[in-house]
Amino acid sequence: MSTQSQLKKYIVKITIAAVVSSAGLMVTTGTASAATVETKSVQASSFVGLRIGTRSSAVREMQLALIQKGITVPGGADGIFGPATETALKTFQKKNGLRTSGTLTRRTARKLGLLGPSQSQATPAAPARINESKVVAIGQTGEQVKLVQSALIIAGIHVSGGADGVFGPATQSAVKTFQAKKGLAQTGKVDSATAKALNNYFDLASTVDMKVFPVQGNCGFDDTWHAPRSGGRVHEGVDIIANSGNYLYAVNDGTISKITVDHWLSGNALRLTLDNGTYFYYGHLREFAPGIAVGTRVSAGQIIGTVGDTGETTVNHLHFEIHPGGGDPVNPYPFVKAIDNCKSSVVPLQPGLK
Ligand SMILES: [Zn+2]
Repeated sequence: MSTQSQLKKYIVKITIAAVVSSAGLMVTTGTASAATVETKSVQASSFVGLRIGTRSSAVREMQLALIQKGITVPGGADGIFGPATETALKTFQKKNGLRTSGTLTRRTARKLGLLGPSQSQATPAAPARINESKVVAIGQTGEQVKLVQSALIIAGIHVSGGADGVFGPATQSAVKTFQAKKGLAQTGKVDSATAKALNNYFDLASTVDMKVFPVQGNCGFDDTWHAPRSGGRVHEGVDIIANSGNYLYAVNDGTISKITVDHWLSGNALRLTLDNGTYFYYGHLREFAPGIAVGTRVSAGQIIGTVGDTGETTVNHLHFEIHPGGGDPVNPYPFVKAIDNCKSSVVPLQPGLK
């Protein structure tokens, strides 16, 4: 018997098993049509039992569901079930009173909306906003302070100590800097006008949809937003340092909308534009991936090029910018930090693979 016919026989066996289990499900779900039940059964079998070491589109869907439920998944939805994804799953299980097995059980899958008809209708939680009718000021602590600090960081204002939820002198001076930038009275207090201006940054941020970290590890990066650069310029991105030749990934589904070759400053560079108009700028590439050209449609995690040092730099790195809605850049640091995957060199699931 040839290998191919053995393989065929194996596939037939799997198909039979799927049909049998869908028949079993049909009994319990009663009125559902056979076709619906079969679809569900295939879904259930691809989700239930997922655990560390798996790489599949089902893993990607689970990661997307976790992200939608507000769980941080380092690396984003890359289709790889590694230690970070396991931790994220455990966090979700713990939060929801489920057994923290780190394996995608049927109950966990249901709670994530991966099973059953409600999956596609699941709406993401509305983004948190600063309460515009309450003044936030020095001496306060808690969630509102954290939101103020997060908005300041996205607005590109340095908040020493980060978003720690404590409104101390550093946060006060950051608020003043923001107020000066926006032409507001520099009170150092988050009054309604300041809260409104800060909330605008959350609106911008909600259009920044990053599903996959852009660089293959190992790598490293710091917050260098608005650090001085040659010719009186300021830095409008984040520099992710990695070895020459490490892969660069599309952070989400989108279209390559611009390519620059050998520019004196940015070297080989490209723009990836999402359907909502937000674009991501990748600079200093060593090479573009085969087939990458203006108009190319790419999907999240797809290899689009490699890390290099083309243009005005001597260090191999990715210069990465985020332009919400296609407008002015915002500080990309908090966005890349949220899905930091610099410790992983594992390549995300590539398009066309299951
Ligand atoms: Zn840079």
